[in-house]
Amino acid sequence: MDIKLQKVSYAYAKGTPFEKHALFEVDIAIQSGTYKAIIGHTGSGKSTILQHFNGLLKPTGGQVIIGDRVIEAGKKQKNLKPIRQKVGIVFQFPEHQLFEETVLKDIMFGPMNFGVSAEEAEKRARELVKLVGLPEGVLEKSPFDLSGGQMRRVAIAGVLAMDPEVIVLDEPTAGLDPRGQKEIMDMFYELHKKQGLTTIL
Ligand code: ADP
Ligand code: MG
Repeated sequence: MDIKLQKVSYAYAKGTPFEKHALFEVDIAIQSGTYKAIIGHTGSGKSTILQHFNGLLKPTGGQVIIGDRVIEAGKKQKNLKPIRQKVGIVFQFPEHQLFEETVLKDIMFGPMNFGVSAEEAEKRARELVKLVGLPEGVLEKSPFDLSGGQMRRVAIAGVLAMDPEVIVLDEPTAGLDPRGQKEIMDMFYELHKKQGLTTIL
């Protein structure tokens, strides 16, 4: 699925005294199957851009084209749920969003919320822990008993469990030690190669 931003502008708290322009007429084209990184200083607008990739933020100017959907400034949007499934976003420090009693339940949560059966969700979880490089034994553990790097892998598995076509990762190596950083970057590249996942870092 291709994603395109055409002259996208975004202002936080638009029309209030706190209005803050974060994006100015940004053009980006991401072709299906690519592996891309967006680089810029803190505050340059990377996280703001990423949230346009699945309609979490709607442009205040210009348009975002996600597959066959067009999200245009000033127009009402209906049913963005299918887009949220197809474009998975892993936020910075995703491990902060783990909450279930076990790793298994945590990975199963997203797909079940989207109507996948418990049986299928569990099957996916069992495959995904291996894919993100964790031993199957972690499934029965509390996510809070894992190391930081392991927790992050669980959180990533939780997004992959939605079976997205595109995965967007916001500063995925932040806070990891150099070895953890290399391991997790290698993992993204492997996923990209093996699963043909469009990957945006
Ligand atoms: P980056 O991810 O590259 O560090 P951000 O997209 O987070 O940049 O931020 C871009 C700009 O938007 C910054 O000036 C930031 O202060 C501002 N900003 C980010 N989030 C908000 C928000 N929720 N409300 C107001 N301004 C924000
Ligand atoms: Mg950011």
